[in-house]
Formats: sequence, C-alpha cells, structure tokens
Amino acid sequence: MKIKTKLTLGVGLLFALILLLGIVSATYINTLKSDTENILIANYNSLQYSQNILSLIEDPTPKNRAKMEQNIVNQENNITEIGEQEATRELRHDFNQFKNNTSDSLIVKSIRASVAKIMDMNMQAIERKSELAKTTANEAVFWIAVAATICFLIAFTLLINLPSNIANPIKELTQSIQQIADKNYSQRVHFEGSSEFGQLARSFNTMALKLEEYNSSNLAKMMIEKKRTETLINNMHDPIIGLDEALNIIFINEEALKIAGLNNTFVIGQSAQALAVNNDLIRLLIRDIARLENLKEDKTKPIKIFADNKESYFEKDTLHIHITPTGETKQKLVGHVIVLRNVTAYKELDLAKTNFIATVSHEFKTPIASIIMSLQLLENKQIGALNDEQKHLVESIKDDTDRLLKITGELLNMTQVESGNIQISKFPTDPKEMLDYAIQATKTQAEQKQIKFEVSCPENLPKVQTDSEKTAWVLTNLISNAIRYSYDHSVIYLSITQSAKNIIISVKDTGQGIAPQYQGKIFDRYFRVPNTKKEGTGLGLAISKEFIEAQGGQISVKSELGTGSTFSVILEAVV
Ligand code: ADP
Repeated sequence: MKIKTKLTLGVGLLFALILLLGIVSATYINTLKSDTENILIANYNSLQYSQNILSLIEDPTPKNRAKMEQNIVNQENNITEIGEQEATRELRHDFNQFKNNTSDSLIVKSIRASVAKIMDMNMQAIERKSELAKTTANEAVFWIAVAATICFLIAFTLLINLPSNIANPIKELTQSIQQIADKNYSQRVHFEGSSEFGQLARSFNTMALKLEEYNSSNLAKMMIEKKRTETLINNMHDPIIGLDEALNIIFINEEALKIAGLNNTFVIGQSAQALAVNNDLIRLLIRDIARLENLKEDKTKPIKIFADNKESYFEKDTLHIHITPTGETKQKLVGHVIVLRNVTAYKELDLAKTNFIATVSHEFKTPIASIIMSLQLLENKQIGALNDEQKHLVESIKDDTDRLLKITGELLNMTQVESGNIQISKFPTDPKEMLDYAIQATKTQAEQKQIKFEVSCPENLPKVQTDSEKTAWVLTNLISNAIRYSYDHSVIYLSITQSAKNIIISVKDTGQGIAPQYQGKIFDRYFRVPNTKKEGTGLGLAISKEFIEAQGGQISVKSELGTGSTFSVILEAVV
C-alpha cells in the first residue's frame, strides 16, 4: 500500500471515529436532556399544581379560590399520563361544587382524593421516566466507551506503526546513500511492495548499479592508463624517477634502477631521503630538491656515473610538478620528476674535440715560435738590411703571428678549462704588480691606437691570494679588449680599490659599450657580440671567468652602449 494511502486511511479513519464518537455522545446527551425536560414539564409541574391546591383548600377565601381555579386550569392544560384526564375532570367537578359550598367536608375530601390521585400518577411517572433516563445514560456510557476504545486501538496502532513505517525506510535509505558517498557502489536497498519507498528503492538500486558500472569501467580505464604510462616510462632509454611532495618514490624506470643499483619491488613507496643515506646517486639527484629553499631549475654539469662496467655521463633535469586543486586558485606542489639525459656520446665527442684542439694548438706553438724567431733574425741588421717594403711585410707577418700565438694560447687555455684541468696555485701577490705586467704586455697595442692609460692605485694595498700567472693573463685580456673596442686617442682607466676583505681591479674604457641584452652572454664560450668588426675567438672572457672563479673570485661587467664598459675582477685580499 502506498504511504499516501496509508496516511489518508489512518488519519481518515481516526477522523471518522472522532466524528462518530461526537455524534453518539451528542445524541445521547440530547436524549437525556429531553428525558429530564419531560419529567420537569410533564410531571413536576402537575405535582406543583396539586401541592398548591392542597394548601389553598385549607383556607378557602375568595382570593384562594381564584388561585385554586388557576392551578386547576394549569393542571387541565398539563395532562400527560394515562388516567390523569379522568382524575382532573373529577377534580374540576368537585371544585365546581366546592365553589358553591366551601364548608362541605365531603367535597373537600373528594378534592383531596382527586389531587392525591393526580400526584400519585405523576410520582409514578417520574419514577418510571428517571428509570428510563438511567437506562439511556448507561447505554450512552456503553456506546461512547465502545467508540472511544475503537478510536484508541486505531490511534495506538497508527502511533506504533505509522512513524516506523515512514522513518525506517528513510533511515535505511540515508545509510545506503552514505555508503554510496563512501564509494561502496555495491550497496542496495530492499523495500518490498508498491509503496513510494518501493519505487524509491528501485530507482536507488538502478542508480547504484550504474555508478558501480561507471566506477569499474573508469577504474579499468585508469588501470590501463597507469600500465601504459608505466610501460612508457620503463621503455624510455633515459633514467626517470618520480617523487611525491614528501620525496617518496612513486615511479622509477629500469634505466634509473640500473644506474642506481636498486631493486624495483623494494624501492617504490620508499622515501628517497632514506635511500639517499646509502645511495650516492640518489643523494646527488635529490640534493637540490631536498634543499627546499632552492626549487629553481638547476643546470648542473653532467653527472659521471659508473654503471654496466662503463663510465656514462648524464645531464640532470628536475621538473617540479604543480597543480591547481579543484575549487582552489592557488597552485600546489605535488611532486618532482627527475630525468637523466644520457650525454655520454656527446661528452665523448666533446672530449675528442678538446683533445684534438689541445694537440693542434700544442703542435702549432713550435712552428709559431720558430716563425717569431725567424722574424727577429730578419730584423737583425747583421743578416742584411731590409728595404721599406720588406720591413712592412715583416711587420705584418709579426702582427699575424702574434695573433696566431694569442689564438693558440686561448685555445690551449680553453682545452684546460673544458677538460676540467685548471691547475690553480694561489700565492699572496701584489695586485699592482699584476696590473703593471698587463699594462706592459699591452703597451705596444695601446700605442698603435694612441690610447693612454690612467692608473689609480692607493698606496699600501694588501696583497691578494691569487694565481698570479692566470690573473695577469685575465687582466691582459681585459686591457687588450678595452684597447680593441675603444676609439683611437681615447683613455683607459685602470684602478685598484679595496672593499672590506676584497680587492677590486677595474678596467674602464670609453669605447662602443655592450648592449644590455648581450651583457649576460659575453662570458659564454665562443660568444661574440653580433656585428663585432674586430677579429677574435669569443674565448677570452669565458677563459677569464673560469680562471677567476676557479680561484674563488668574481668577474663582472657594467656597460652602457655608446659610453663604454667597465670590467671588474674581485679577488680575496690577504689580511
Ligand atoms: P673576443 O676574442 O671576441 O674579444 P672575448 O671573450 O674577449 O672574445 O669577448 C667577447 C665579446 O665581448 C667580444 O666579441 C666583444 O663583442 C665583447 N667585448 C669584450 N670586451 C669588450 C669591451 N671592452 N667593449 C665592448 N665590447 C667588448
């Protein structure tokens, strides 16, 4: 049965019963009322008139006789019982005689007898009628009690059954919805019958079934996707490691396991930081991530790893994965992916190139030295005087040979830098001495362009802890650049200053300057500002940076296009 029908029937029945109870009660009360009224009007009044007649007859004054007359008239109009008519008629007859002879005791006696008869009749009637009223009252009590009991029974049944009939399915349904919310899609509800709850249960079960199907199909899809991604990562030749935000390993491919000497089943879910305690490679890889203050991409030098009985070089790329959670606007770090790119082949090629350049430059040195020596011999008057044209030719060969020597020197230095073999031997050195050496080395070059040096150097400067040979080479290179990129007849300002525990050697020119977009690149190997007319290799500043930084110093540039450039070398002072 439907809930609505149940409720309508229950409440309707109750309503009908209450109505019935009301009607029964009202009917009986009405009957009782009419019974009492009947006694009052029909019999009580007759008794009253009879009583009046009996008391008035004792003193038959004309006034009392009139009153008696009135009471007899009233009695005549209030005949209700069988036999009362005759008794009243007798009373009338006797009274008529009494009016003419008030002293006749026989008549008085007869009147009294008639009145007594009337009174007796009415008394009996009152008794009979009150008996009837009593029966009616008992009947009323019975039927009202019956109706009230039925009412109570129905109301009690409804009270016990109806709330649980409605509340129990709702409770079961709420629990089932909760189960579905907790992703237990196998949950079903079982309400029998054709009530609204039965229909609700069928709809709920259909929904749960569809959700179950959807979930299992999604799960299957996700599993396939997961497998696909895992296979993809595993088949990649580059080692890849995935970490969550707490640095636990969430995936790692075969290549990464191989080079790290780890076992898959053991590693997944492990903390990379815990693994790093005993694994050098993992420690090296997570070093910058674990140091959380530096989450920027870090382009480090290739990592040398010995695995599979051979040395390999890898370039590390760390990706920090951020997502914006649903409903939020702020990005959240959810993990890191470390990709190692195998650059062994390039590294080997690079090494071969470096070795080749080193060998060639080294081999070039001897013939160049012999050319320089021959030129010096040619300039010697004892060998024979040269005419002007020959002198000019010799000068030009000398210039080219100097340039060749410079390039060879730079290439040799570069091979040292590239192979990581910079040998630094630091000693306390007077910075002024190094600057003087550089000035001396570039003097001829400056004179050719009629460029003057202005040196500013305070007295009693502390010495610097440096490799004097390499720093002097750097200063020579900086001054040489300043001369090359300055206009004729200009001035180059050379200064040495002290700042805290450092000595700063600056080379300032008033030449063409360097555009801002190139200032960050001029220290890169083989970089030359586009459209630079002067010859060069683009190696001088790169080597200078390596030489200075290898000693723990710094080299920097400040430049404005069209105004000039200032190169500064900062070295540690000996205190
Ligand atoms: P290069 O052999 O080309 O001079 P460097 O490494 O010494 O190589 O310099 C790199 C580039 O920086 C140069 O090609 C030049 O364009 C620019 N440069 C270096 N020094 C100066 C300077 N003092 N003024 C203007 N440009 C300069």
